[in-house]
Amino acid sequence: MIVDLHCHSTFSDGAHSPETLITMATKAGIDALALTDHDSLAGLNALHQAASDKPIRIINGIEFSTRWKKYELHIIGLNIPLDDSTFSAIVIKQRNSRQQRALEISRKLDAVGVENAYDKACQIAGHEHVARPHFAKVLLNEGRVKDLQSGFDRYLGRGKPAYVPTSWITVEEAVSAIVAAGGQAVIAHPLKYSLTRTKLRELINDFKGAGGIGIEVISGETMDSQIAELVKLCNRFELLASTGSDFHSEKTSQTKLGQQRPLPLNCKPIWTEWTF
Ligand code: MN
Ligand code: MN
Ligand code: MN
Repeated sequence: MIVDLHCHSTFSDGAHSPETLITMATKAGIDALALTDHDSLAGLNALHQAASDKPIRIINGIEFSTRWKKYELHIIGLNIPLDDSTFSAIVIKQRNSRQQRALEISRKLDAVGVENAYDKACQIAGHEHVARPHFAKVLLNEGRVKDLQSGFDRYLGRGKPAYVPTSWITVEEAVSAIVAAGGQAVIAHPLKYSLTRTKLRELINDFKGAGGIGIEVISGETMDSQIAELVKLCNRFELLASTGSDFHSEKTSQTKLGQQRPLPLNCKPIWTEWTF
């Protein structure tokens, strides 16, 4: 069974519409797909519609940007109901934080001579939920940088002229909201935050304390040694294993939709208790 529980559409920073993702998923033989746009559920209706006549199971997902101590971490929510007003309120709060940050980034870019960056970023995105990659594209289009990464290195990254910290919800808030809505909370790509092993264990304890039940064992390109370490954490902390491509686009993602490596057998897939 091919399961991909982590990908992005044009409703966040992915290159493809939900409709195109379904076409791609069908071609790739994916049995179950979760769309996990950053802080947004907005692409899910279109995804369900596009999948309605296809033999593919859709899981409502989201990838929350969260704060834990001084770190910015991603928490994935799976099986989120789309009509839960309490959950929607948190999503709106996150959207407002993102919007505030976008406007502030735009003001800072204006100060260094890049005009109307917010409007330009919205145009690139095709909507108003713009993120830093969209601003990086603006900088590229304006000839300010030679590639998207330089946009972060020279303007948008921490300590650079257009850096703006965001007031994301905490890990505990995100996990509680997901659990209260009846979903499952998963730590996305746990080894990508440069946490010491002690800090990572501390995070997992806090995460479990709030009701979190899973970690991503495979997330896009994941090395053997990392997979082994993550499986160990699953077993030690009795966590379920999630897996996903974290596909954004052909250009930026090495792993295509549903093409991430299979989960090892010595961990328990998060979908074990779901009905397919
Ligand atoms: Mn992304
Ligand atoms: Mn992420
Ligand atoms: Mn992601």
